[in-house]
Amino acid sequence: MDFEITHEQRMLVETVRGFIKDELAPLEQEIEETGQLPDEIARSIFEKSRALGLYGMNIPEEFGGGGLSALETMMVEEQFGHTTDILIRRAFGNVYEVLLSCEGPQVERWLLPSVRGDRVCSIAFTEPGAGSDAAGIRTRAERKGDKWVLNGMKHYISDGAFADFFVVTAVTDPAKGHRGISMFLLDKGTPGFNIGRDQPMMGLRGTSHLDLHFDDVELTDENLLGTEGEGLKLALSVLGRVRLAQVAARSIGKATKVLQMTLDYARERVQFGQPIGEFQMVQQMLADSAMEISAARSALWQCAWEIDAGLDPRARISVLKVQGSETLGRVVDRAVQIFGGMGYSKDLPIERYYRDARIYRIFDGASEIHRGVIAKSLLKGGAQLFDPWGA
Ligand SMILES: Cc1cc2nc3c(=O)[nH]c(=O)nc-3n(C[C@H](O)[C@H](O)[C@H](O)COP(=O)(O)OP(=O)(O)OC[C@H]3O[C@@H](n4cnc5c(N)ncnc54)[C@H](O)[C@@H]3O)c2cc1C
Repeated sequence: MDFEITHEQRMLVETVRGFIKDELAPLEQEIEETGQLPDEIARSIFEKSRALGLYGMNIPEEFGGGGLSALETMMVEEQFGHTTDILIRRAFGNVYEVLLSCEGPQVERWLLPSVRGDRVCSIAFTEPGAGSDAAGIRTRAERKGDKWVLNGMKHYISDGAFADFFVVTAVTDPAKGHRGISMFLLDKGTPGFNIGRDQPMMGLRGTSHLDLHFDDVELTDENLLGTEGEGLKLALSVLGRVRLAQVAARSIGKATKVLQMTLDYARERVQFGQPIGEFQMVQQMLADSAMEISAARSALWQCAWEIDAGLDPRARISVLKVQGSETLGRVVDRAVQIFGGMGYSKDLPIERYYRDARIYRIFDGASEIHRGVIAKSLLKGGAQLFDPWGA
């Protein structure tokens, strides 16, 4: 085990941190107030970030990405957690690794423009009747001659208003259950593909969460991503790393930032003639937050190391999804408590962090779903799953 951070890694993280502090953080409050990130500002931060090589860093260099290892991806994703969802998307890109399954003409049409930032992709799996139960979708793609005909709908699709195309799951063989689901690449503007309402949400201001409607949308085999019938298998194999990055690492980053703000406040705020940080009950909250963040970060790095070593730490990713998001939930809840009325007021961003944090326990598999995965893995594989020496 080697926990030394290389010079290159330190430089990378400092560049990302500096970019967030100088270019993105000053935009946060206006987005919160207006719910909008103006197009010209979005373009400007994208161009600046791309010039620094900070766009699509998770994608291998052979496709024009930054070629970061899993561990390095987690290091920068933790920094991304210091700003808001919409700014991360515009500045650094959400280039989903599922697009690495593109083949032949799909590479030029969907993968490469995404890595360059010329086209933006959203993931569209969830439907009103099928959230946690991803195999329970009703959207149907029927083969008719050499075409596929898509009918159905999706909802809550993040960044759908800005996206140029979508990765959509659909049932291709109803008789085969979860083995009868495939993934399709669907361009906005395809006849029969209509955008519905933008669902208002508790937080994540500036990001859209759209309904999508498919009415006899005609697709060809070029739209099929991966192998027919293996859509869910593909999702499971690639989305784990997304969860680790976009939920666990970002949660740990957000929790770290909130703890620092809370420490600053606990030093400054005086009650009963002394800084509130001198009260043991406040100290306990601060210590608990620090312990939980530290444990989650070590676990994150171990998990990323395992991915880089070629292992498939699926159960550990579920652990991190829950550990990261729930740590953030507790840290930000304690922050509101320590800030008192100021924590609840809109004069400070603490209440925004509190609202934004809540979704991390729900999307990309709710805590209950991941606890189920962990428990089933334990019952099947034994405690040695998390014990390098064996039980
Ligand atoms: C802000 C936001 C952004 C989103 N972005 C996207 C996106 O970009 N693309 C996309 O496809 N989807 C997206 N989603 C959808 C998201 O992934 C789902 O909301 C999530 O998977 C939960 O599904 P659900 O809302 O239908 O809840 P349900 O599945 O109905 O779950 C409700 C409750 O029941 C519990 N539950 C369900 N099944 C079990 C079980 N087997 N055991 C124990 N408890 C269970 C859940 O844990 C949860 O507590 C987004 C949602 C939100 C709110």
